Amino acid sequence: MAHAPAPAPSGRALTVKILAGMALGIVAGVILSLADPPADPSAGPAVADSWARQWLTDGILRVVGQAFVRLLQVMVIPLVLVSLICGAAAMEDVAKVGRVGVKTLVLYLATTALAIILAVAAALLVRPGAGFPLAADVEFKAEPPPPLGDVLLDIVPSNIFAAMAAGQMLPIILFAILFGLALTMAGAPGKRLLAVLQDANAVVMSLVWLVMLLAPVGVFALVARTFATQGFGAFAPLGKYAGLVILVLALHALVVYPAILRILGRIDPRPFLRKMREVQVFAFSTASSNATIPVNLRVVETGLGVKNSIAAFTIPLGATVNMDGTAIMQGVATVFVAQVYGVDLSGSQLVTVVLTATLASIGTAGVPGVGLIMLAMVLQQVGLPVAGIGLIIGIDRLLDMARTAVNVTGDSLVACIVARSEGEWDAGVYGDRAGD
Ligand code: ASP
Repeated sequence: MAHAPAPAPSGRALTVKILAGMALGIVAGVILSLADPPADPSAGPAVADSWARQWLTDGILRVVGQAFVRLLQVMVIPLVLVSLICGAAAMEDVAKVGRVGVKTLVLYLATTALAIILAVAAALLVRPGAGFPLAADVEFKAEPPPPLGDVLLDIVPSNIFAAMAAGQMLPIILFAILFGLALTMAGAPGKRLLAVLQDANAVVMSLVWLVMLLAPVGVFALVARTFATQGFGAFAPLGKYAGLVILVLALHALVVYPAILRILGRIDPRPFLRKMREVQVFAFSTASSNATIPVNLRVVETGLGVKNSIAAFTIPLGATVNMDGTAIMQGVATVFVAQVYGVDLSGSQLVTVVLTATLASIGTAGVPGVGLIMLAMVLQQVGLPVAGIGLIIGIDRLLDMARTAVNVTGDSLVACIVARSEGEWDAGVYGDRAGD
């Protein structure tokens, strides 16, 4: 059995501080952007940077924010490796690993497909692209996608250190599962090594808690800088598109997820929504599912009562392949681009959108901005101009933050349902208010 992570002494107080950091960050960022609007690149080279931009936005806020993200990132690989080895060892048999794997992947795919269907339906109804002025100079160049064979081969590591150095999650996950299973087959040496790894896991979890203590300041800096540098000029013409993406994201997270949790998991969704707030703020401020893995893993285990054996597998895998929020953006964006270019999507094209956006979101890495790049794949598949991405790129960073919050929520949702179905879920911890 894996050791329980160190208790979270003042969990709720910290969440309040993190939420306050985010709110203050938004206010500070908006003030900075109004006082010193970001340069319009089409108006020629920017004049000398202002004091506020040099020292605050691109100075203190950048350094503090990036330092915080790096501290989160540095824990990801050691945590996934150690935690998943312990988790796989706890599952003990290959059949169980296979069963949990299939359940998890099916749920990831189903929730993502549902998200896109919702997004496409909403966009067809609201028509965010109708009447949108099409400038002649929009541009976006898509990279060709890698061949499928290579994508599959890339899951199998040939050098685990190279995979770790490159931060490639899927080969690390595969290696950790095999290593964990081998531990259980190796008799006494396996038991001894497992005990050491379980101790290491507990220590890394405490490290996560330590870094989380810095979150109020880190989140403030990240959010303030993003809002200071985005400029809201880009928002006005794209208000209908952005508003719709946010609306569908909210619908998915606040209506669809709770319904799935209740119906499929027979779990009361209220503690889930309450306890996931903290994880959502991390995802929102970093716009990275990967960087949020340590915090999500911690909250899912200590707050939502999911046993390490399930959490250690579902959360890193979900951060890599399950992107419901990204899929929602891609669904709305595809219909938006079609409407702007005056293309009527046929029934079979809509089905293609659902299928390719599901695949595209699997292929989207859990780092900022990749969802937009993968949108090229969806547009190409239905014959829409990839240059359409140029229309929405201006406001994508802010939407990226919102969709990443939904991406990580979907991962935790599936973790809870799979854990419950496997008897690896602790209802007492889940309902407990102390770990909020
Ligand atoms: N930023 C997203 C994530 O990390 C991916 C994306 O949609 O760009 O989950």
